[in-house]
Amino acid sequence: MKTMSVRCCIAGGGPAGMMLGLLLARAGVNVVVLEKHVDFLRDFRGDTIHPSTLEVMHELGILERLLTLPHQKTPRINAQFGDLALTVADFSSLSTHCRFVAFMPQWDFLNFLAEEAARYSTFQLRRQAEVTGLVEEKGSVVGLRANTSDGPLEVRADLVVGADGRHSIVRAKAGLSIEEFGAPMDVLWFRLSRRANDPGDPVGRFDAGRIFIMLNRGDYWQCGFVIPKGSRDQLQERGLPAFRDAVAQLAPFMADRVGELHDWEPIKLLTVQVDRLRRWYRSGLLCIGDAAHAMSPVGGVGINLAIQDAVATANLLAAPLRDGPVTIEDLRKVQQRREWPTRMTQRVQLAIQNRVIRHVLTNRDRFSPPFAIRLLALIPFLRRIPARMIGLGVRPEHVHTSDTKDTPASMEAASH
Ligand SMILES: Cc1cc2nc3c(=O)[nH]c(=O)nc-3n(C[C@H](O)[C@H](O)[C@H](O)COP(=O)(O)OP(=O)(O)OC[C@H]3O[C@@H](n4cnc5c(N)ncnc54)[C@H](O)[C@@H]3O)c2cc1C
Repeated sequence: MKTMSVRCCIAGGGPAGMMLGLLLARAGVNVVVLEKHVDFLRDFRGDTIHPSTLEVMHELGILERLLTLPHQKTPRINAQFGDLALTVADFSSLSTHCRFVAFMPQWDFLNFLAEEAARYSTFQLRRQAEVTGLVEEKGSVVGLRANTSDGPLEVRADLVVGADGRHSIVRAKAGLSIEEFGAPMDVLWFRLSRRANDPGDPVGRFDAGRIFIMLNRGDYWQCGFVIPKGSRDQLQERGLPAFRDAVAQLAPFMADRVGELHDWEPIKLLTVQVDRLRRWYRSGLLCIGDAAHAMSPVGGVGINLAIQDAVATANLLAAPLRDGPVTIEDLRKVQQRREWPTRMTQRVQLAIQNRVIRHVLTNRDRFSPPFAIRLLALIPFLRRIPARMIGLGVRPEHVHTSDTKDTPASMEAASH
């Protein structure tokens, strides 16, 4: 078995893990990110980069470079509820550098973070490194075990971070207890080609018993067809032609290409889960992002929360980590900082799941827009509330760590 030793070992190269890796490396902390896949090219990732994340990129001085990558700027989010078309969130009133959500394939965003982090000698990304277990000594976590393309690897670290998403192996092996909140829906996730005269903006369509979301990925649409939880088998029994018809009814401009869905194989089931760890840490170990709190896709805010967790973690732990192990008290401060924004966001997601999504999915015969939506249509000023929740989130974080490339004293620390 190969071994290596670092200050911080992060399991998972998603938004939380890659952003934390970049911030710690930038602050002079020796860090390795272990990612089980060979690349970031996976369709199930969300593609939203929110104004608050763009603000973090500005604070890091890399916003302009990021925005040279192909993306679509979305200054407002529109949706159609039955016959009622309306703007549900308008980001133009936010006091941030970017008053839009950037839609960018997440693999481009993660590759960008990896490239930025690679400029620091303190950063390592090991792809094809699947974390399989914890290394523990005297009740503390002191490292991770992983299977890599070069065989088994043991990484010793002063801090292990579980950023390995909602099916986190790290949180399972650490025995951290989870509070589950349930979700009334799952999502069928598939692609349909995109034509030159299609709409450019993301499309959200709500109708009796159905919700359909389409994200513009350049030459194709990433589609999310929301179904009541556990109802995929019934849907399949009704047959593929019925499913194609349902898609064409919700998005008539796609009627000419629903035939691209030849069989069920490319139509993937994404199960929605919402949960939160009661305690996000143990001696030597911390969980962040979905590993600490699996987010519902409602509002598309999970990536933002994962990034905010990473920023807060780096702000609180970079300085102590440069010198050695962090204390339980240091780890408790991270949860203390991030738990309230997480609770508030999940509370809003659960309210929307139960009052809007359940209402739409269970009313199969007659559709009337839910009360909250009619209120947004009547009082445009109220659209600032979802804009703030989606665009900035609760208590947005700011980067307080420094760049070792700019501070000679910290560079010295980094070399130890
Ligand atoms: C259907 C659906 C649609 C969504 N759409 C959006 C959206 O549009 N916008 C939005 O903001 N949020 C969206 N979300 C939520 C969002 O995907 C998550 O909240 C967000 O990805 C969390 O980021 P993360 O870095 O914590 O975890 P993840 O993004 O899950 O990243 C975890 C990483 O860890 C790696 N990993 C897992 N296990 C191991 C292991 N054992 N060893 C090594 N590596 C491992 C994975 O390969 C992955 O790269 C959606 C969620 C769902 C279910």
